[in-house]
Amino acid sequence: MGVSRRPCYSRGVVAEANTPISDKDNLLDKVWDAHAVRELPSGQTQLFIGLHLIHEVTSPQAFAMMREMKLPVRFPERTLATIDHIIPTLSQQRPLADDLAEKMMSAIEKNCAEYGIRLLDPASGKQGIVHVIGPELGLTQPGMTIACGDSHTSTHGAFGTVAFGIGTSQVRDILATQCLALSKPRVRRIDVTGKLMPGVYAKDVTLAIIRQLGVKGGVGYAYEYGGPVIDVMSIEERLTVCNMSIEGGARCGYANPDETTFDYLRDREFSPQGASFDSAVRWWKSLASPPDASYDDRVEVDGNAIAPSVSWGINPGQNLGIDERLPRPADAPAQDRASLEEAYSYMSLKPGEPIAGTPINVAFIGSCTNGRISDLREAARVARTGRVAPGVKALVVPGSQAVAREAEAEGLHEVFRAAGFEWRLAGCSMCLAMNPDKLVDREICASSSNRNFKGRQGSPTGRTLLMSPAMVAAAAIAGHVVDVREVL
Ligand code: SF4
Repeated sequence: MGVSRRPCYSRGVVAEANTPISDKDNLLDKVWDAHAVRELPSGQTQLFIGLHLIHEVTSPQAFAMMREMKLPVRFPERTLATIDHIIPTLSQQRPLADDLAEKMMSAIEKNCAEYGIRLLDPASGKQGIVHVIGPELGLTQPGMTIACGDSHTSTHGAFGTVAFGIGTSQVRDILATQCLALSKPRVRRIDVTGKLMPGVYAKDVTLAIIRQLGVKGGVGYAYEYGGPVIDVMSIEERLTVCNMSIEGGARCGYANPDETTFDYLRDREFSPQGASFDSAVRWWKSLASPPDASYDDRVEVDGNAIAPSVSWGINPGQNLGIDERLPRPADAPAQDRASLEEAYSYMSLKPGEPIAGTPINVAFIGSCTNGRISDLREAARVARTGRVAPGVKALVVPGSQAVAREAEAEGLHEVFRAAGFEWRLAGCSMCLAMNPDKLVDREICASSSNRNFKGRQGSPTGRTLLMSPAMVAAAAIAGHVVDVREVL
């Protein structure tokens, strides 16, 4: 136990804390303490936010409130904006064809110009989904606190970052003060043991975790992911796992920083450079939870037992391995039966049927969960094995312009096109369908995104089956849900 003054790196700016560090503090404890300004009378912490990411959907109302209150943005250099949710993926010619989208794009341009905030728009060559560009630019770094008006901000935890989604009034609070009033979450350590089988991906790991712990199992917790399966994952795989923490109820999820993290960050645009990088690595290493760290809860997930997984219902916890049959409500615990019945009623699937063979109409590869270059490479491996089935519409939407450039340099766009997939421009696209990429009527979509809620993909009656990008590509070619291991 000792008292320290700990720097928090974010491009040369330092926040300090002088709270004692216990030898058993986990990463969340350390990062929280380093950013705690003070304890509030409510018992919450006034927490300094190192990086605030904004986009066009949840920021306009916050800026309107700032104007009304005649407040300046406290640290414009700590806010970064992009355009992702509403951006069309076929043509981004201005003015945008959709009036509302054009208004939202114009609003964020105006707000950023007025308040001195950097905007990464399509003309910048760095535009993309907010949770894709932060990591790829090196903005997301270990030990930071990051907030964004989007629930999948947990993605950034892959670097050992405490990152969470916020609401519009909190966007305003950060713009005005760079701080938030928050209750500290408990920490659940999740060890994923064993080794993944070929054809099993990070998406399957996160679906397995949510299935085991439930969609509300993480409420009040931050998830710390570790164990042999997480240890050997790439940063992009960890981003996928952390992304879906919120789908398990945990507002924030993270993996401890290690050599994989440091290698990823070296020489990125916003990473510390030269001697500052070495100094940052020393700090980042000190943040990792020690082997005997204390947690509020510990859980093991058997990585050997995880199969390629598919969601069948109306929340991400309603998923199963590709070899399994759909659950029978009568066999489920009494408290789960109503939600199973509701899912069957919406999805028009039958208890006891195998999930394999379920026909699809649309295949979507993209999103902040699975729109990165490694996702596209795996999907392209599958795309090389055949052609999209007649009647299936298949979209590949890179998570950012940088991902698109890298994929095109490798010729992946040609692989997809040759197989009958559409190669689109970067954005959120059909994950949330706030742009023209929408399901129609009762269409059923094999999707690499993160939510299968009712109406999520643009049609109030549309249906979503979540799976890995490789599984989506395999389903596109087969015309129905299929085990990717039979294809690779
Ligand atoms: S890809 Fe989907 S989940 Fe991710 S930021 Fe966009 S809309 Fe939100």
